[in-house]
Amino acid sequence: MATATHHTVLSETALGLHQQIVAGTRSAASVLEETYATLAQREPEVQAFLSLTRPLAEATAAEVDRRVAAGEPLPLLAGVPIAIKDNINVTGYPTTCASRILQGYVSPYNATVIERTQAHLMPIVGKTNLDEFAMGSSSENSAFQPTRNPWDPERVPGGSSSGSAAAVSAGIVPLSLGSDTGGSVRQPAALCGLVGIKPTYGLVSRYGLVAYGSSLDQVSPFARNVADAAALLQIIAGHDPLDATSLPDEAPLAYVNQINVAPQPLTIGIIEQFEQTSGMQAEVQEAIRQTLQTLEAMGHRTVRVSIPSIEKAIAAYYILATAEASSNLARYDGVRYGRRPETNVRDVYELFRETRAAGFGPEVKRRIMLGTFALSAGYYDAFYGKGQKARALLWQEFSTAFAQADVLVCPTTPTTAFRFGEKTADPVSMYLSDIATIPANLTGIPALSVPCGFDHAGLPIGLQLMAPHRAESQLFRLAQQLETQTGLANLLPARLIPTTAATV
Ligand code: GLN
Repeated sequence: MATATHHTVLSETALGLHQQIVAGTRSAASVLEETYATLAQREPEVQAFLSLTRPLAEATAAEVDRRVAAGEPLPLLAGVPIAIKDNINVTGYPTTCASRILQGYVSPYNATVIERTQAHLMPIVGKTNLDEFAMGSSSENSAFQPTRNPWDPERVPGGSSSGSAAAVSAGIVPLSLGSDTGGSVRQPAALCGLVGIKPTYGLVSRYGLVAYGSSLDQVSPFARNVADAAALLQIIAGHDPLDATSLPDEAPLAYVNQINVAPQPLTIGIIEQFEQTSGMQAEVQEAIRQTLQTLEAMGHRTVRVSIPSIEKAIAAYYILATAEASSNLARYDGVRYGRRPETNVRDVYELFRETRAAGFGPEVKRRIMLGTFALSAGYYDAFYGKGQKARALLWQEFSTAFAQADVLVCPTTPTTAFRFGEKTADPVSMYLSDIATIPANLTGIPALSVPCGFDHAGLPIGLQLMAPHRAESQLFRLAQQLETQTGLANLLPARLIPTTAATV
């Protein structure tokens, strides 16, 4: 029997919780209360949140319970608590991007993804920690706090959506939103044993997401299983006139209804470039090899495909993303956005300089300088132009690969969760860990990370699946089929499962 200290919300899936709320066997208010109780217990160690939005969450939960009592219909995932990365705007609450420069900023409007989760009556629990302006892979670039990996608090949860990943992995919430520009949802999903999906560029609105690399950014869901991730993406996806790069709607999205239809036998392309072991942890390679065998045993065929430009992807990304960032971050000048320093300044240039010098952390400054350099007269063709060419080549090579295979696979990350401080002294070693995730951002294709095993220390390993533009349902169905086979769903670190929860 579970005792009173066991927060039962923990072991529930998002869709399972929603069903109980709709059936009236559990109230949205009590689910939310348990959520904040779990948060109070876990947060001191995990440090996933930068602020809480409890009044908003309680109002949403009350509306859910009112509708249940009145017998009114409820939208998908109503009553399911969600955490939001703190670079996504929620009306009346701070958006800090984990940067000092935005301290004191309160958002006057909702991001479109927030309008949509609110329309679905999902209580927003709080805003989660990130690497400053979503630049990083570990949470170590947050101006406020490191977030710890719930599987091992001495290790990073990944980044930049560190808090959103850790909050789900620690059992605080079943779902969260992050943003993925070069892997910021898939990499932490892999390092925390979660499902994370970066949708096709343009599928989810960027309106109200603080811009980092606008041609790469996508708001992306985290969940503890494939079906929950599909449900959340279904809610946030769709055309938005407020985002100029938003895709037109096609057939109504029905990821959840289609998910249990096992895909026809597929041809799965193994990307050759990830087979060499250099820099790749042997246990990660081994887990991927075994998963490929599982996929073959399930009736899928594997082939080798080559995408030679993958070796140019990191360099191209760190030119293009920083170039876009240098322009996007120009608005933090102490006039349009950004907290002004208290000292008296002589002129507007000094105002800009003082604001930016005091407000931005070292990684953000590094990237603004890199990007400004890449765009500067005389260097534009040599850097930005070359980066664009590499991006075009990658596009062509992926198109060719998708003529040979329905889905492409590779490890999501070269290693399992690393220790704090391990890569901070050398930014390039941190950048190199993005090798497998960046190509999907540069080409705009959807990519999903799903747990596929563990290393010797019991740390989770992620498999990345990539599909052609708009083939999200294909990814979900294959990942669901695999998840059913491996049983690697709803993972919670054993150290966090209360011993009192043991059933008789
Ligand atoms: N780790 C990558 C970077 O540091 C990805 C960031 C992201 O996706 N926001 O840029």
